[in-house]
Amino acid sequence: MQSDDLIQQWKKAVSEKNLPNTDHFKTLPLAKAEKLDEEILSLHNHYSECIDCLSCAKCCKTTVTVFNNEDVGRASRALALSRKEFIKKYLIEDQGEYTTISTPCPFLLPDNKCGIYEARPHACRSFPHTGRPHFLNRLKAHQQNLRVCSITYHVLKDYTT
Ligand code: SF4
Ligand code: SF4
Repeated sequence: MQSDDLIQQWKKAVSEKNLPNTDHFKTLPLAKAEKLDEEILSLHNHYSECIDCLSCAKCCKTTVTVFNNEDVGRASRALALSRKEFIKKYLIEDQGEYTTISTPCPFLLPDNKCGIYEARPHACRSFPHTGRPHFLNRLKAHQQNLRVCSITYHVLKDYTT
């Protein structure tokens, strides 16, 4: 299926409030749970290839982005700013973490590309996190991301139906 069709399917499901429920994963038999990461990763890889993120960028447009200390160092060097200048210009500090000062992300370009792509934070590299190990530890985040990300929607829908 084409990227646009997959995105449209997801938008329809959001508008109709017809989204998968991650509670399904809490009752998996042990044998299935042990193989879960492998199966979810396979779906994640499939839909990440099918869906064109540059025609979406909803994650960059609607969610705040977390920067850890390492991310701050890398991104500030990429923009030739000191850490202090970078933080002051783009971030808010909250209990030892930094988040972007505004949404859409200040680094998002008009063509939906990332202005600091090579130096983007770890959270952006791994979003929507369906390709990471320990899927079951992030059920709450996956449930929230269903409203943001068509990749999350299709991965969970395929697994739960
Ligand atoms: S919300 Fe999901 S599909 Fe859209 S750009 Fe982000 S990762 Fe890609
Ligand atoms: S840093 Fe780049 S990839 Fe991350 S949210 Fe901002 S524009 Fe998107």
